[in-house]
Amino acid sequence: MRLRHVKDADVVINNCSFVIKDYKSNIGNWYKVFGNHHPIHIEIGMGKGDFIIGMALKYPNINFIGIEKFDSVMVRAIQKIDIPIPNLRYIRMDAKEIEEVFAKEIDTIYLNFSDPWPKRRHAFRRLTSVDFLKRYDGLFKDKCHIVQKTDNKDLFAFSIKSFNNYGYIIDDLTLDLQQNNYPDNVETEYEKRFKNKGNPIYMIKVCK
Ligand code: SAM
Repeated sequence: MRLRHVKDADVVINNCSFVIKDYKSNIGNWYKVFGNHHPIHIEIGMGKGDFIIGMALKYPNINFIGIEKFDSVMVRAIQKIDIPIPNLRYIRMDAKEIEEVFAKEIDTIYLNFSDPWPKRRHAFRRLTSVDFLKRYDGLFKDKCHIVQKTDNKDLFAFSIKSFNNYGYIIDDLTLDLQQNNYPDNVETEYEKRFKNKGNPIYMIKVCK
């Protein structure tokens, strides 16, 4: 993703009520942030927030947390919301820290159009690498659920192998999300962009 500097991004983030700043202090207690025991779903690498905002509006009885590494991108996700959505929060952090943020409280992780890191020596940075799958283990409340969407064939093939090697089983898989029947699909910003270019979108849901 090409990053543009956004003036005062840090100020916007610090002043935003639905960005959780002391995110490590909520470990094991995220239900208190929402004030209920509804399931919690997270998106790692939410970008400008189209998907997580759409999901939060569509499913008011699920709590959603969008995670994004860069201030300049997070600001765009903040600017898309006029009035805070009760079941949506944001965290500005690198997913490398995720084990220090959640413990046995997550229902589903979404990985949408994650950076592919095409060089083999960078494979450990892919969000579906074994390094990350290990980090996710302790986050889940009961069963582990991960949903990935991408238009990148190599990343998708890598993810399928990685999930399989790590003991996940496939719940659902499509090699063309648009052509097959997924009426509940909520599109991401990148998905809209790649779909308009005519790229097929791959999707996999796994659990263990
Ligand atoms: N999910 C969005 C979509 O589908 O439109 C954005 C996709 S964009 C290609 C990937 C996003 O993931 C970027 O905003 C990037 O900053 C973020 N990201 C990449 N690695 C990350 C990490 N380790 N922790 C948190 N965010 C990350």
